[in-house]
Amino acid sequence: MRLILCPLQTCSRHLFAQPDRTFACQQAHAVDPDTLALRPDDVWLPSANGQLFCISTPTASLRRMLDADREYSSAPMEYDLELPPLLELKDAAFELVEALDLGLPFPAASAR
Ligand SMILES: [Zn+2]
Repeated sequence: MRLILCPLQTCSRHLFAQPDRTFACQQAHAVDPDTLALRPDDVWLPSANGQLFCISTPTASLRRMLDADREYSSAPMEYDLELPPLLELKDAAFELVEALDLGLPFPAASAR
């Protein structure tokens, strides 16, 4: 989960939900979340305290996990929890759990 900051380069403060369902920073710069430049596999969400953040979709996290598993499985047999594919697998799994905890749906089999 990554906080989304005000896109004005001279500001870069956190964005908060406003009563009119828009977002604004503490300097009152209004921001439409649909205009934010997110990575293709990211979605934005408001946190419980109204801060705007983004997170990878569950589909993207699952793909990262599968890619890491494939990479680990094709490498010479080695058991080291610090191997890059295992670290990637762990990071993607944590991101998936976080997204599911926030209410994003687990992807249907056809979407994976
Ligand atoms: Zn701002």
